[in-house]
Amino acid sequence: MSKLRLTALDAGPLSPDKNKLVAFAPGRVSVPTTVGVIEHEAHGLVLWDTGINHTVADPERGEAYWGAGLRDAFGAHGFTRAHAVDAQLERLGFKPADVRYVVYSHLHLDHAGGMSYFPGAVHVVQRDEIRYALWPDPWTRPVYCQNDFQDIRKLDILEVEGDFDLFDDGRMRLIRTPGHTPGHQALVLDLAHRGRICLAADVGHQRDGFDAMVPMPWDWSASAMSMTRMRMKQLERSGVPLFLCHDAGDFAKLPSAGAFWD
Ligand SMILES: [Zn+2]
Repeated sequence: MSKLRLTALDAGPLSPDKNKLVAFAPGRVSVPTTVGVIEHEAHGLVLWDTGINHTVADPERGEAYWGAGLRDAFGAHGFTRAHAVDAQLERLGFKPADVRYVVYSHLHLDHAGGMSYFPGAVHVVQRDEIRYALWPDPWTRPVYCQNDFQDIRKLDILEVEGDFDLFDDGRMRLIRTPGHTPGHQALVLDLAHRGRICLAADVGHQRDGFDAMVPMPWDWSASAMSMTRMRMKQLERSGVPLFLCHDAGDFAKLPSAGAFWD
């Protein structure tokens, strides 16, 4: 059976007011933006999300790229050129052209920022997510950065609808998890030694909010999110640990900085 190897990157440290992540939460919080780098023995290099675009590291151009006030609102001042996913892949010894597949949990500006770095990859996204991202409802428009999508029509897009076994080998299963966005999805990896784990992206921004089922600002549907969270909690009860993209505690448990799980 084909094998996998996983390491994680933080391609977007942010320090927003916590109420940007969990409704009504007080205080400020420092969070990672988790990107999964997965080597599949038979199918090569697969990226799970792409973090924030490097332009955002430049104070002036970044303000124009994301839109007025968003760098401040999300506390992106700690994000540097070296954090962008292309720079971090290079430190792992990979070139952008080595990436065969880019799989998106959803297309918000902290997940789709690196889309243009991988013109030769197959880009995998839920069908309703890509459609919604290109013409979002007005209130959610700020977090779908159209600059991230400047090359989207030139890319090889694999639209999927619902749960999907990426290589039909049970190793990388996409689970449809709508709520935060219409076409949000999570990724269940089956690692030969570590067992199954779930890169759960933004089914919760923070552990406390996820556990208490508190809605998040920018959620497309709080009702769909409730159903998704119940499904994800059952997955966790079944013995598959979840790793939230923006929870510092979850990120700390994942292998990073040259460490791998297989
Ligand atoms: Zn996010």
